[in-house]
Amino acid sequence: MTNQTTANAHASKSSKDYPQLIDGKWVCAKNDSWIDVENPGRGTILGRVPDSREEDVDSAVAAAKEAFDGWKRKAARDRGRLLIQIGDVIADRQEELARIISSETGNALRTQARGEAASGADIFRFYGEVASQQKGDTLPFGDNLLSYTVREPVGVVGGIVPWNAPVTLATLKMAMALSTGNTLVLKVAELAPLAVLKVAEWANELLPAGVLNVISGTGLGAGVPLAGHSDVAKLTFTGSTSVGKEILSAAASRVAPVSLELGGKSPAIVFPDSDDAATVSNVISAMRFTRQGQSCTAGSRLFLHKSIYDSFLSKLTAELDKLVIGDPLDEATDIGAIASQKQYNTVLEYINDASTEGATIITGGPDKPVESGGYYVAPTIIAGAEADSKLCREEVFGPVLAVIPWEDEEELLKQANDSSYGLAGYVFTKDISTAIRFANDLEVGWVQVNRGGGQLPGMSYGGNKQSGLGREYSVEGALESFTTVKNITVAI
Ligand code: NAD
Repeated sequence: MTNQTTANAHASKSSKDYPQLIDGKWVCAKNDSWIDVENPGRGTILGRVPDSREEDVDSAVAAAKEAFDGWKRKAARDRGRLLIQIGDVIADRQEELARIISSETGNALRTQARGEAASGADIFRFYGEVASQQKGDTLPFGDNLLSYTVREPVGVVGGIVPWNAPVTLATLKMAMALSTGNTLVLKVAELAPLAVLKVAEWANELLPAGVLNVISGTGLGAGVPLAGHSDVAKLTFTGSTSVGKEILSAAASRVAPVSLELGGKSPAIVFPDSDDAATVSNVISAMRFTRQGQSCTAGSRLFLHKSIYDSFLSKLTAELDKLVIGDPLDEATDIGAIASQKQYNTVLEYINDASTEGATIITGGPDKPVESGGYYVAPTIIAGAEADSKLCREEVFGPVLAVIPWEDEEELLKQANDSSYGLAGYVFTKDISTAIRFANDLEVGWVQVNRGGGQLPGMSYGGNKQSGLGREYSVEGALESFTTVKNITVAI
């Protein structure tokens, strides 16, 4: 087994082996097993990453524990300055990063991966700039007592991320955990580990050894031991609701704090006054069609008022027809590939089941724009699915939009809120009172009015119900999630 110490030594056994970062060094899994990483746009193998197990997790956690004292004692602004430098490095090399993201996720380079690479730089810079906001309070107990609070880091953070937006989600966890003085062991997703390992390589040129450890492996092999590790003081998980529940129960045994960013089945509601091109474009963006619908915040239940139902749908299908599906790395491509064969099969199963149950496929289904292979599904719109159907209740995590007509506002609100999820919601109307009324009444963590874009660093973000626990992205959320408050009371 090789155990390399130079940051750029990603080639261990062959140029396609990508070791992981533990204690500032690039290492293989101790049992020397590997996981292949596929380019889902072409069906080719990009390389291999370590298939880590408990013993590798132990090493990473031990390194993070050892590095904690030195890192937490650094002045917050000094930590912040290092994070800003990491952001600057990512910004300088973002095209290289974007190409890796696109190759391993299947997300189109032009419409998705470039923006995601830029978000990594933005997130590091943002948390670097606000590092000094880790402030406490003093309490007015009179002349004889000095009572004040300090916000302390919690210790070793265990982070686990999914594959759909690997760099955005990983840099978010890195930047929030590190800026607040914690050290981190981050497990990347088996489908998309390479871009995050690349960010780790650049960050490792600047950070003390052990502050950031990035390991690869499966959920069972590496995720379970990380979630259950007694020296991991805090867990931050982004992924499916079913795994989120397992993370929560792993943390319960040692009363470790957990933040969970989980799945969604978000409503997008169009009022009669918004049967226009801008709303069509926002609905496409809310559904994340140009990332194949593989987004937790996808507005995947489209509620169209009956009076504009046909007219809006025909505009929507016409716009979707203009989008180019193809090889993710091709500059002409708007929509890339589904992330894996397994995910592709799941998406097709939802479409087939809906059709078997009597729903109508208005447009979409499997596609084959790339001769050499890859997993492609065209933007799919399905009408007539029952409110209780799998399609309307479960997260497909693919480019499949259920369209539902509505007439009565009270009934609409009931239906929109009738979900076990509560992540995001979209309201499209020119009437400000209606917009605010619905924004207030939707049982979700994030409502967008006349906008379908993504999250921005600084905003509060997180889900209600089974979409999650806690809030991230905002300064307040990072402080709540990654620090603990100590009160110190001094008799004078
Ligand atoms: P997943 O839950 O299958 O896997 C997520 C991560 O958890 C991976 O790294 C995986 O290896 C690991 N994992 C799997 N089983 C584990 C276990 N038992 N213990 C510990 N770790 C384990 O999710 P996915 O398929 O990678 O991603 C898609 C899901 O992520 C969707 O449900 C999506 O909505 C959700 N997601 C949520 C957000 C958000 O911000 N709310 C953002 C992106 C994705």
